[in-house]
Amino acid sequence: MADPILELTDVRTHFPVHSGFVMRRETGSVKAVDGVTLSVERGEVLGLVGESGCGKSTLARTIMQLVPATSGTVVLNGRNLATCSPDEILGARRAMQMVFQDPYASLNPRLTVHATLAEPLRVHRLRRPEDVDARVTELMELVGLAPRFRRKYPHEFSGGQRQRIAIARALALEPKVIIADEPVSALDVSIQAQILNLLSQLRREMDLSLIFIAHDLSVVKHISDRIAVMYLGKIVELGPAVDVIERPRHPYTRALVSAIPTADPDVERTRQRIVLAGDPPSPLHPPEGCPFHPRCAYALEKCKAAVPPLIADTPGRVVACVRLDEI
Ligand code: SF4
Repeated sequence: MADPILELTDVRTHFPVHSGFVMRRETGSVKAVDGVTLSVERGEVLGLVGESGCGKSTLARTIMQLVPATSGTVVLNGRNLATCSPDEILGARRAMQMVFQDPYASLNPRLTVHATLAEPLRVHRLRRPEDVDARVTELMELVGLAPRFRRKYPHEFSGGQRQRIAIARALALEPKVIIADEPVSALDVSIQAQILNLLSQLRREMDLSLIFIAHDLSVVKHISDRIAVMYLGKIVELGPAVDVIERPRHPYTRALVSAIPTADPDVERTRQRIVLAGDPPSPLHPPEGCPFHPRCAYALEKCKAAVPPLIADTPGRVVACVRLDEI
């Protein structure tokens, strides 16, 4: 039975654009997130993929209440965050933590690992002062870091170790949901696998829900239960990870899947890559109708008439395309 911890309904995050020096007036808006509806179940990993600039990170920040939503609702554990008091928002941020792409930029270079992990425990009064040391040790062991490194600074660690510290800091507040925004993009391939395995293991052991954001489907396919594909601020396909990877339906998802390299050299030799023409349109001036139509090989006149709604396809999967029965 569905048991969502996080529910987003028609979430929009638009940034107004102003012009004029003396008489400043709003001349438009950047529709970074434009009507996203999705939910994350308890203990589920939802992969969120799309090209750079499609609105993934803005959506993550909107969920975290770091950027105010223009409209729509974000419900965490049954509470609508738009109606929460500042104290309640603080509590919600504790229940949802973020892991960022660049662990070096997200860690304070002046704090040792111990200070980095102890700080949230003290600020949120999660442990008595005499118990902080033991909890720091526990957190370091949880992410595979030797506690003897607790007095070291971020610059003394490798990229992968720094990301482990960032994950430990996120876990310090015992969150229910972790939003990992491109957590392995800045790491070497071998280290990427270690961090992905670590996140999978933590999710199983701690019953965490995870939103895993990446621009590359090959990164999310191993870790995700479901995958949501985002294009120009909208979800264009959402479904079980296996279905999305093995039988992509939306033309944009097909292009993303075709870019996934395979380990088998024979398959790799015959892999037909779908190369999309041009760049994604500007979210300041999105195209009429289907936002993907300027780059879609299947586009017809009717695709320009209206924004295609997400319609049910196979069980658990929705796709936003008016030509789904024809292509
Ligand atoms: Fe392509 Fe038309 Fe489907 Fe959009 S609605 S993805 S343009 S076929």
